[in-house]
Amino acid sequence: MSAPIQTDTLIIGAGPVGLFQVFELGLLGLKTAVVDALPHIGGQCVELYPDKPIYDIPAVPVCTGQQLTDQLLAQIKPFLPPFYLGQQVERVEKRGEGDFVVQTSAGTVFHTRAVFIAAGVGAFAPRKLPVEGLEPFEGQNFNYRVKDPSRYHGKDVLIFGGGDSALDWAIELADKANVVLVHRRSVFKAAPASVARMRQLCAEEKMQYLEGRAAELIERNGVLKGIKVKSTDGVTRAVHCDEVLCFFGLSPKLGPIAEWGLALDKKSIVVDTEKFQTSTPGIFAVGDINTYPGKKKLILSGFHEAALAAFGAYSYLNPEEKVLLQYTTTSPKMHARLGVDDPYKDEEL
Ligand code: FAD
Repeated sequence: MSAPIQTDTLIIGAGPVGLFQVFELGLLGLKTAVVDALPHIGGQCVELYPDKPIYDIPAVPVCTGQQLTDQLLAQIKPFLPPFYLGQQVERVEKRGEGDFVVQTSAGTVFHTRAVFIAAGVGAFAPRKLPVEGLEPFEGQNFNYRVKDPSRYHGKDVLIFGGGDSALDWAIELADKANVVLVHRRSVFKAAPASVARMRQLCAEEKMQYLEGRAAELIERNGVLKGIKVKSTDGVTRAVHCDEVLCFFGLSPKLGPIAEWGLALDKKSIVVDTEKFQTSTPGIFAVGDINTYPGKKKLILSGFHEAALAAFGAYSYLNPEEKVLLQYTTTSPKMHARLGVDDPYKDEEL
């Protein structure tokens, strides 16, 4: 285990709200570091819908999940913190006021004065295909997300699921790969237009659809070669393929967060709406992970929460000091922190 890393504050989660938390802390002069269990930045926006449009970010009429993440990264550039990716925070322990020890699954230890939990729906845990012996193939030719669509071009691809992700990818790959979609029943969660498109592609013999469930893996010399599918007509068919994609959604798992002694309500962390502080002073929770009366799990709500949590943390760390609200437009202090020239410096406002 390497030496502990000292940081003013620590953010758990690099989703949109964790990223905006960096910005709000930076404006108040607080340094931070960010940890995420995923190997990349962006939370749900990048993991679940990088190419889908978002329409309700204030002053941004439309952007995709990836674009929102890129814009947030551009915005936090003046305060760019170290990111510790691909490691889950397992332990958060309070040793005293303004004194926390945080430890990750990779053995990284942080000593920090305040903690921000921006952990969304918890550590991402894709719902697994219920067949035995899957583990060795996960991340090989069995995957829960598409990292590089070109990997599937010209191949036999078996896709499981009946939601938007499964149908979107089946449709997207239909003219580039030999796609077989498997869903357990005739009712789909996906948008009706996608279901209609999928049926049309099947009628045109551009892809195939099977109603049934995965029964058994087909493995040869340690390589996954396909899956036996038990169809609803009672027949079990061996579907040979090069690649398998499974889109059964995510099971919201709080994971280790449930063990940190914080007040919870139905898998969410209870916070106040003044500082977005948890039941443990010095630990704040923002974004999808928290709950309070009227909570809406929207990105814009998380942004508001991040601003107030930053002020809350500043007061917690500097109880003698009054925190003044300053505008980024006019405050020389903010300009210095942002590293920008004051455009109005010669004007009287
Ligand atoms: P997340 O984005 O969930 O990020 C949390 C991060 O924390 C994750 O990266 C996770 O890996 C990490 N993490 C969790 N636990 C740990 C741990 N113990 N250690 C380390 N890391 C951890 N919202 C809108 O406002 N508008 C929309 O149009 C919209 N469309 C959506 C479409 C879809 C398909 C989905 C699924 C969601 C949509 N949302 C939308 C909701 C929006 O994505 C969430 O509100 C937002 O992502 C919450 O941001 P967050 O930063 O709180 O959490």
